[in-house]
Amino acid sequence: MKPSPHRHTPATIDLSAIRYNLITVRDHLAAHGKFPEFWPAVKANAYGHGVVKVAKAIEDLVGGYCVSNLDEAIELREAGIGKEILILSGIVPDNVDYALKLNITLTAPSLEWLKLIVSTGREVAGLKLHLKFDSGMGRLGARTVEETNAMIDLMDECGMEFNGIFTHFATADEVSQEIFDRQVSRFNNVLSKIIRRPKYVHSTNSAAALWHDNQVQDIERLGAGLYGFDPSNGSLKLPYELKPAFSLKSEIYHCKEVEAGETIGYGATFVADGPTFIGTVPIGYADGWTRDMQGFSVLVDGKFCEIVGRVAMDQMMIKLDKIYPIGTPVTLIGQDGDNVITVDNIAKWRQTINYEILCLLSDRIYRKYL
Ligand code: PLP
Repeated sequence: MKPSPHRHTPATIDLSAIRYNLITVRDHLAAHGKFPEFWPAVKANAYGHGVVKVAKAIEDLVGGYCVSNLDEAIELREAGIGKEILILSGIVPDNVDYALKLNITLTAPSLEWLKLIVSTGREVAGLKLHLKFDSGMGRLGARTVEETNAMIDLMDECGMEFNGIFTHFATADEVSQEIFDRQVSRFNNVLSKIIRRPKYVHSTNSAAALWHDNQVQDIERLGAGLYGFDPSNGSLKLPYELKPAFSLKSEIYHCKEVEAGETIGYGATFVADGPTFIGTVPIGYADGWTRDMQGFSVLVDGKFCEIVGRVAMDQMMIKLDKIYPIGTPVTLIGQDGDNVITVDNIAKWRQTINYEILCLLSDRIYRKYL
């Protein structure tokens, strides 16, 4: 879907907040004797913030970037990004040529996958790999010391570069430590038994950097924290303040008073119980502003206004305290006067996590940068 810059429903991304967050996490880690390279997670269009703009804004602060697939890596290279790029998932074996040509580091998720890329007969010498170890996430990775060492042997035999080994935590953002500790001990066990330590050992996402900084090793894969939102979704208290980088505004582009008994929107789910002021706002579920936002609020003139009637594909209606002129600003995420609506508020309303809210806001929402 193409962005719609002519519609007045822009997201604003504050790149200085993104830099502030990275520097803040870096400085706190340094104060605890940890000096990792930062390879931030900029997958999924930098969690909806716009990957090229974000990557360029922090290029001087990072050692590399983490993306989720080959196309995301190619997008960064085509934008002129020269730093390391690690693809966090296994790629289709036949596409391995791209990785060599574009100096992209691949995740080796299993011995079976490694054998497959060798069996394609394609050039693999010089290919940079980070071996994934599954310490308990249950998603990707070697599961035993034997498999891990067999993968290192095969990389050596074929002239591939065993550049890193990593794991990923399932519960670094939770109060309970049990599963986290089990993952740490499994990862430490494999590290103590591998035939050779690569240049990079890493395991930490934002939650681990914030609440388990003793676990930070050679690379910090900062995602949520970079964008200034809480990876625990409120389960844990942030040890220091981060700045949300994303705000979303629209405007009233139609406003009217309806009589008691008039209905609003598809399915006529809202019925006015008296004379009611209604504004129409150009955002809908095709923007990722989903139908379950009905009943939630936005801010107009610093006041909370309820979303009434069903959210449609391109528009929604809000209940107002008076008639407002066309062009009156509507805040969907961010501050207006003394009130604020956060991504966390929306996630709570939708019974999901803040990550999902931001990733689902579609490309139709034009992104502006500060
Ligand atoms: N590392 C891996 C392997 C991931 O899959 C992710 C995100 O899902 C991250 C790091 C970044 O995580 P977060 O956004 O919680 O910091």
